[in-house]
Amino acid sequence: MLIDRLEQTRRLTFEEYLQLLTGFTPQLAEYAADKALRVREAVYQRDVYVRGLIEVSNYCKNDCLYCGIRRSNKSCDRYRLSKEDILFCCKEGYELGMRTFVLQGGEDPYFTDQVLVDIVSTIRKEYPDCAITLSLGERSRDSYEALFAAGANRYLLRHETADEKHYGVLHPKEMSFSNRMKCLKELKEIGFQTGCGLMVGSPGQTMETLAEDLFFIQEFQPQMCGVGPFIPHRDTPFRDSPAGSGELTCYLLSLVRLMHPTVLLPATTALGTLDKDGREKGLRAGANVVMPNLSPMAVRKKYELYNDKISTGEESAQSVKAIRKRIHDCGFDMVIARGDILEA
Ligand code: SAH
Repeated sequence: MLIDRLEQTRRLTFEEYLQLLTGFTPQLAEYAADKALRVREAVYQRDVYVRGLIEVSNYCKNDCLYCGIRRSNKSCDRYRLSKEDILFCCKEGYELGMRTFVLQGGEDPYFTDQVLVDIVSTIRKEYPDCAITLSLGERSRDSYEALFAAGANRYLLRHETADEKHYGVLHPKEMSFSNRMKCLKELKEIGFQTGCGLMVGSPGQTMETLAEDLFFIQEFQPQMCGVGPFIPHRDTPFRDSPAGSGELTCYLLSLVRLMHPTVLLPATTALGTLDKDGREKGLRAGANVVMPNLSPMAVRKKYELYNDKISTGEESAQSVKAIRKRIHDCGFDMVIARGDILEA
């Protein structure tokens, strides 16, 4: 069976990935999830890593058609955090046991290299035992180098889709697939633990494009990979498009785990938004990371990439105890650790 071969060789052809995708059934997904769990356990045991997600700005110069904070959304109430705000979030996160801070945001021109280097080097100095992850979109090679030198360790930049034509459906014409790929390659060369990723069920996506994504992930060998369902936002051109499937998302998580046993794989907020038990299902399918929101309460609702994004209650970092219990209840342990990628 193909799933077994994927587990053994960790490589398939595009056609074989396509066959696995078109052959999706709940039974096959369960079979893949069981194997993915065992593969994950051999590397990471029962450990789940926690990252504090700080959404630093919802200003964005880009106009990605799927995204709620795209520049042409005039109803988006814009904010950006100050250095002091961000450091306060880190302090809170550290006290809650988080040892990775993820600074994510729109492509906000306010965050020049100078501003970011100052913020990153201050976090580096104040929290020498923590990892700093950035997720701030496409920047120049020089900029990535400066941020790495300032002490950032990881960078998340989802490739969104590995099919160039499909990339053009999701993005305005001034954005390019080749630049996205160039950024990813540079990030890895510079030495960042690099994350790519995609939305499941984005408009225009087919099983062929998903097979391309799996093949790309196999070739790129990212250290991290974000896979979450697409969820429409009312103020975007894709407002009437259906959300992606949680079941298919979990199946993809299992396939990614099987092809790349050591990859850091989050059970995403989008999966938790689609289904209240989504993140648990993600963990049971092979994910090993959760990213609770550490942003100040006052801005949380404003970082609305898609409608009804969960941001309160158990989603909040302040409810870390509840998060720990939920992780424990599905058979895992939330650990206090930087959670770098481990060798197989
Ligand atoms: N500006 C940064 C961060 C983007 S937000 C960057 O370009 O990398 C992080 C991720 O959220 C995006 O990469 C995208 O995959 C996801 N996202 C955006 N809109 C979404 C939507 N409507 N549904 C689900 N995920 C979405």
